[in-house]
Amino acid sequence: MMRMMTRLGKALLVCLPSAGLAVGLAYGLEWILNAPISAAGLASSALVPIIIGMPVIYYIEGQSAKLKNAIVTLDLMREEAEERAKRDSMTGLYNHQHFMEKIHEGGRRDDGSLIILDIDHFKNINDNYGHAQGDEALIHVVAAVRKAVRAGDVVGRIGGEEFAVFLLDANKEEAKMVASRIRQTVESIEFIPEDGVKAPLTVSVGVAMKDEMDNVIGALQLADMRMYKAKQSGRNQVVDSGLEAEVFDLSNGAQG
Ligand code: GH3
Ligand code: MG
Ligand code: MG
Repeated sequence: MMRMMTRLGKALLVCLPSAGLAVGLAYGLEWILNAPISAAGLASSALVPIIIGMPVIYYIEGQSAKLKNAIVTLDLMREEAEERAKRDSMTGLYNHQHFMEKIHEGGRRDDGSLIILDIDHFKNINDNYGHAQGDEALIHVVAAVRKAVRAGDVVGRIGGEEFAVFLLDANKEEAKMVASRIRQTVESIEFIPEDGVKAPLTVSVGVAMKDEMDNVIGALQLADMRMYKAKQSGRNQVVDSGLEAEVFDLSNGAQG
């Protein structure tokens, strides 16, 4: 109703001055040509712009409102599509590519810690209980990670059953706490893939601080190597120290 009134108002705003102009012109011609104008002629001069103009302008205003709405809808759809392209459809977490973009952005800051975690013996879950139960287990683990991190932290699914967290302002102690909380929460998940069967769910976790390495990518590699160390040391544990020299050698090797 409001929109209809606005459209009518806009149409009137154009038509009334046009009608006034037409009447003025009629009087002007009466004077120039010295030919008297009839009341009917004067009335038709005033009414024609209104009769023709009102529906035309009302229609154009309606089309232009529709066009504006379509542009807004398209913008929203584009934003949604862009947002979807950044995320993994199953977990809603950032995908590998977008996670890397985010850590490059965040890497410009001074602080920051990285956590990498990988589900232990995940293949067994798929093999024993089927892929759908594997997916279920993944969702449980993601919920545990989400619970342990803060709103501003960046979480990505960087592999099938491998996740990474970039804690933007966290120092080593805080990052260790978050990593331990993730490990404990996953360990305490009641995962029942079959009636009466409780399957263990655990993760191996590596932690590194940005300032342990030259840059944030080095820290990501360090966290990854520490996660593998956690696997080798028996799984279901957090490793937060050692291996700096190995990663340093690796990155030097890559440059040379
Ligand atoms: P480890 O403790 O050494 O990490 O052993 P693992 O079995 O977890 O590791 P491995 O790399 O051997 O197997 C990972 C498995 O994860 C294999 C792959 O089929 C499965 N996987 C990857 N993505 C998905 C997924 O989205 N859903 C399910 N159900 N399984 C997945
Ligand atoms: Mg695994
Ligand atoms: Mg893996």
